[in-house]
Amino acid sequence: MYLYVAVAITFAITASVIAYSKGRNSLGWFLAGLLIGPFALVVAALGPVAREGIFARCGSCGEIVRAEATVCRFCNRPLGSDVPDNAQPEEAA
Ligand SMILES: [Zn+2]
Repeated sequence: MYLYVAVAITFAITASVIAYSKGRNSLGWFLAGLLIGPFALVVAALGPVAREGIFARCGSCGEIVRAEATVCRFCNRPLGSDVPDNAQPEEAA
């Protein structure tokens, strides 16, 4: 029983650290590690943040905005891949 608890806590801490390093909810992944052990490690290690599909980073001001937004609510610039943030004419100087 002690061994199981020690292993579960080890997985929980590891999943928490992985989740934190990837911008996820570290407390939630700590609990997930307690419950599902190594599976939490695998899921936590997968790709970037899970909420990436819901939120996107504004290319102009760097703030987090909703992915379906067409105009940034912070800087009011249009969002989308057709608006590169490094295409300012000043760069040619
Ligand atoms: Zn912006």
